[in-house]
Amino acid sequence: MNIAIDGPAGAGKSTIARLVANRLGFLYVDTGAMYRAIALYILDSHVDPENADALNTALDQIHIDIVYENGVQHVLLNLQDVSAEIRSPKVSMMASTTSAIPAVRAKLLDLQRNLAAKNDVLMDGRDIGTNILPNAELKIFLTASVEVRAKRRFDEMVQRGERLDIEDVKADIQQRDTQDMNRAVAPLKQAEDAVFIDSSYMTIEEVVKEIMTLAEKVKQENA
Ligand code: C5P
Repeated sequence: MNIAIDGPAGAGKSTIARLVANRLGFLYVDTGAMYRAIALYILDSHVDPENADALNTALDQIHIDIVYENGVQHVLLNLQDVSAEIRSPKVSMMASTTSAIPAVRAKLLDLQRNLAAKNDVLMDGRDIGTNILPNAELKIFLTASVEVRAKRRFDEMVQRGERLDIEDVKADIQQRDTQDMNRAVAPLKQAEDAVFIDSSYMTIEEVVKEIMTLAEKVKQENA
């Protein structure tokens, strides 16, 4: 069984997805981490993403693996675990820029679909329900107001010891949303058959419960 969760930056997708996957005994696949790993390589190797030849050469040198340790996803970039480094604001923005490029998306397609073909997965991202897993048994579109999303992201970064301005966090989120929703290939949008959840005024547990109820129903229907 496959569950797709899509939505804008900071909607709480990974927190919720991790909890739901855990309760269902599913594999949680964070596809954003894959785009982030590619972005990290592009940043570190000073490749201009607008230079198609340089980008294609870089993509040929990139190998992404997803491994699990005690149920936690780790993303390997050329065999190096980059799970922590990919969380910086700079990488977030570069991931949004490079994920609009068709060759970047094409590179990750098989990796994502293979994981879903071999396992019961709960996969989150921007185009999972619309493009990667159009036949997912359950699709969720999870969102929240931009203020709430900025506050959540800000709190998360403060907890990690980073010092930044909440207005900058909000501006970054808005810029990424605009880019992610308006790109030509696989833009962020709600799949027609996705269940819409606005988590602005919901607790994590309330959202988890709602998705668990939907998942249990689908499981029973498919049994
Ligand atoms: O979800 P996360 O914030 O880690 O994603 C980083 C960026 O990767 C997003 O802003 C988006 O541009 C891109 N992405 C994507 N498609 C996905 C997952 C992420 O384009 N399925």
